Amino acid sequence: MNTEANQDWVARSLAAVWHPCTQMKHHERVPLVPIARGKGAWLYDHEGKRYLDAISSWWVNLFGHANEDINRALKDQLDTLEHAMLAGCTHAPAVELAERLAALTQHTLGHAFFASDGASAVEIALKMSFHAWRNRGQGEKREFVCLANSYHGETIGALGVTDVAIFKDAYDPLIRHAHVVASPAVAGVDAAIGAMRTLFEQRAAHLAAVIVEPLVQCAAGMAMYDASYLTQLRALCDEFGVHLIADEIAVGCGRTGTFFACEQAGIWPDFVCLSKGISGGYLPLSIVLTRDDIYAAFYDDDVTRGFLHSHSYTGNPLACRAALATLDLFENANVLAENRRKSALLREALQPLAKHARVRGFRERGTIFAFDVDIDDKTFSRRFFANALQRELLMRPIGTTVYMMPPYILGDDELLLLAQRTRDTLDATLARDVA
Ligand SMILES: *Cc1c(COP(=O)(O)O)cnc(C)c1O
Repeated sequence: MNTEANQDWVARSLAAVWHPCTQMKHHERVPLVPIARGKGAWLYDHEGKRYLDAISSWWVNLFGHANEDINRALKDQLDTLEHAMLAGCTHAPAVELAERLAALTQHTLGHAFFASDGASAVEIALKMSFHAWRNRGQGEKREFVCLANSYHGETIGALGVTDVAIFKDAYDPLIRHAHVVASPAVAGVDAAIGAMRTLFEQRAAHLAAVIVEPLVQCAAGMAMYDASYLTQLRALCDEFGVHLIADEIAVGCGRTGTFFACEQAGIWPDFVCLSKGISGGYLPLSIVLTRDDIYAAFYDDDVTRGFLHSHSYTGNPLACRAALATLDLFENANVLAENRRKSALLREALQPLAKHARVRGFRERGTIFAFDVDIDDKTFSRRFFANALQRELLMRPIGTTVYMMPPYILGDDELLLLAQRTRDTLDATLARDVA
């Protein structure tokens, strides 16, 4: 028990750390949670108070905190090679990870380019698409297309294909805008495909690529759509000669029920971006996978026709080794089948909540569950967060959308606890019982 340590870390953090995605002044009232350690699905503060990590620490954690298998692999890697540059050198973790990811795409996307975060992966895919067309003599294909409400990261280039006002509006003058087309999650599949076809008919000669979040637009508030959209979009991209970029940073790694979300549409894109869960939530790592023909467009005696993009920590061996240990867990533990069973259990336990008088649009895909709350209150998310903490839950609604995206290792008891306490938290928040 150490209440003082808790308070001390909070005070020092608020003085020195500029927290992400946060209006710092809100922390005058909203609690900041000092995390001392983690084990499995639980995070602990310095008093030993525990919080169920119901959102996988921003959607990155798959197999729990302090996972023994991943820890063992990392300790071994630490004593072997912590880092070496990936230009001019190579190492086993990067090679093995690239090979295994290629195999997971049936070798359709057989070339892996590494970076450290999701936004960089998106920028890499955009640059590669444009540059591939340019190397093929079609430099006029330099425009991009994204969906309404899309989120692809917050660097300046990634914001160009992002359509979430709160992240984008302040930087609008800095941004090179993509075409924004109706999302199937809002307009429905047929209307969204129709809108895309109309744009392609007018602009295809200038379009390099369309980028989508397959099946679930997570940051938009877990907006879900049918896989048939992706099947039809693939056909449209083939018909008009436009690259398809699948941003699977949030939905990949089994989150929606298949390892890649695109598998549910029976298609492969031209680029897949992976990050978040790929390292098990341990280390910053992102990967862009692409096809032979794109790779071939850069393969030349002329250095400037190469893809000269780089980051200092590209292909970091520790991060790659964490990813290999994560892939081992998928292979050894029949994760996807077990996730289906757990999701059925959670669905059942959430039925009372789904029928709650103030709950709208209850939805799920794989291990993502979400619903909208019928309330007009800008402080809802912050109040829900505080009320959830009091009930040992770490949850952070997006506006008035409450969602769960737990690690895959939750036990049945923990799933039931999550369902019950989410309900309690909602009722407390609706009662304006501010924590
Ligand atoms: C999180 C996310 C990103 C950005 O990844 P960062 O590592 O935060 O830069 C991009 N696209 C999607 C779909 C994401 O969920």
